[in-house]
Amino acid sequence: MEQKQYTSKELLKRFVPYFKKYKGTLCMDLFCAALTTVCELVLPLIMRYITNEGMRDLAALSMQTVGRLGLLYLVLRIMDGIASYYMADMGHVMGAKIETDMRRDAYRHLQQLSNTYYNNTKVGQIMGRVTNDLFDVTEFAHHCPEEFFIAAIKTVISFFILAGIHLWLTVLVFLCVPLMAGVCMTLNFRVKGAFRKQRHQIGELNARIEDSLLGHKVVKAFTNEGIEKEKFEKDNQKFLDIKKESYKYMAMFQTTVKMFDGLMYLMVVVAGGIFMVKGLILPGDLVAYMLYVTTLIATIRRIIEFAEQFQRGMTGIERFLQIVDADIEIFDEPDAVDLYDPKGDIVFENVSFEYPDDHNRVFKRLNLHIKAGEKVAIVGPSGGGKTTLCNLIPRFYDVTCGRVTLDGEDIKHFTLKSLRGSIGIVQQDVYLFSGTIYENITYGRPGASREEVVEAAKRAGAHEFITELKEGYDTYVGERGVKLSGGQKQRLSIARVFLKNPPIIILDEATSALDNESEFEVAKSLARLSEGRTTLTIAHRLSSIRNSDRILVLTEDGIVEEGTHEQLLEQKGMYFHFYNMANQLK
Ligand code: ADP
Ligand code: MG
Repeated sequence: MEQKQYTSKELLKRFVPYFKKYKGTLCMDLFCAALTTVCELVLPLIMRYITNEGMRDLAALSMQTVGRLGLLYLVLRIMDGIASYYMADMGHVMGAKIETDMRRDAYRHLQQLSNTYYNNTKVGQIMGRVTNDLFDVTEFAHHCPEEFFIAAIKTVISFFILAGIHLWLTVLVFLCVPLMAGVCMTLNFRVKGAFRKQRHQIGELNARIEDSLLGHKVVKAFTNEGIEKEKFEKDNQKFLDIKKESYKYMAMFQTTVKMFDGLMYLMVVVAGGIFMVKGLILPGDLVAYMLYVTTLIATIRRIIEFAEQFQRGMTGIERFLQIVDADIEIFDEPDAVDLYDPKGDIVFENVSFEYPDDHNRVFKRLNLHIKAGEKVAIVGPSGGGKTTLCNLIPRFYDVTCGRVTLDGEDIKHFTLKSLRGSIGIVQQDVYLFSGTIYENITYGRPGASREEVVEAAKRAGAHEFITELKEGYDTYVGERGVKLSGGQKQRLSIARVFLKNPPIIILDEATSALDNESEFEVAKSLARLSEGRTTLTIAHRLSSIRNSDRILVLTEDGIVEEGTHEQLLEQKGMYFHFYNMANQLK
């Protein structure tokens, strides 16, 4: 998916509000930063004083003065220690809290994003964005204000102190700073580009690995390990190339800085030496210059090291914003109301639909009325639009034209939560969360009592096999848990829907992946489930839908036949054809 790119200004503008909650900590952090800086800046002044006084008249320099200066320095260092501790502890905690807030925002947004987003975004990429990319933000959030603040006050204060000693020498030395800043900023731009590419490629690599791990059975069955390895190698190599590029820019950056700080020392040694020989400055002044330039260079070095962190952080923020700025395509209309006690009368009125990213029209002016409590089955060729039709009712996608109504009201007038809350869906693939069987069933209605869960399992035909398991309802399922058969999983998913107890049921090829015996069991559960509810059944095994109130044949041209099983057989059309084909297969 095409991702928006942000300028540094935009990134900072969006990031700064995250500090709002932690204003106090931030101010304290900056205060501590100022304190440590001042402590550091006092040392050259003390050295300058001692040197100049000693050179002037060694005998006049009393032990008492030295002692007092020593004590002053000791106090300063203790304050420095406390301030540094605060910065390292609370400063980092603030960064971590901001990271947590951002991750929460990203997660919330991800939950609202529509199927279209997930169809077009690799899970590996999203995972990277909400984990690793945000780690970098912690460091950034803490160090960015602090380091820039320290650098700024250090540069300004040392400039004024040195200018007080000798203006022209100071101007000469400081001339290097803007020059260096200019070159660094240009290079920084390249470094940012390289980091952006790096992050993207890590996401690609994650996605690639995830894909081949999830599909490991298919890989093995087709002995395509070689091909997978090749694809992986390609992405891995690409990652290396991008890393090489960013190291190249980082190296250029660091070398430039080194050259400039060499230049600053050179100024002090040569120009300062000349000034001293000419008697314009004292030896203590030269010592102070040397020490200040050393601190300045150390600061600049830190900023340079931080530049990498800075760019990582900025890239992290950008990748975060790309998530939170992704369009929520399906949302509650401003005047949406809760759907109360729905009957389940569904009407498609002149519905046209095409997938947002693929302008292939799936439906054109489709009309369909499903009465409350009616059992409607949809059959038709694969790709005819059966699943799509069902997805429009819970608004997994919104119609392009026309409208879908429930009990006479456009479904867009209802809140998503209440609309989806009144629809139960059983699909071919069952997703069980890591956790116990019990937890997986209560997913249908969190907060349900144990009795209700057992009752739902009984009605879904799952109670028997659950109680046969060693740990019964508390058996773990999912990645590390017990392996259930397809039919058993499907009955758990039906139990979930029983617990939810919605008035509308959608069964999308719920038995397609099952063997005959499981199918028989599951079909019984489904029949119980659909009792007294509006039911839409998509099935490619016609046996399970014979008793539907109405059968629709849906093809790319829309609903081409409609009627009961007997009526459709009489028509000798497409359904008749399907039916005979299915019988021949038997
Ligand atoms: P059925 O369930 O009848 O097999 P679908 O509703 O899955 O058919 O698909 C109907 C048409 O929509 C097909 O042409 C299919 O390629 C297309 N389609 C399905 N899902 C998507 C999607 N997420 N994005 C774009 N096109 C899709
Ligand atoms: Mg389908």
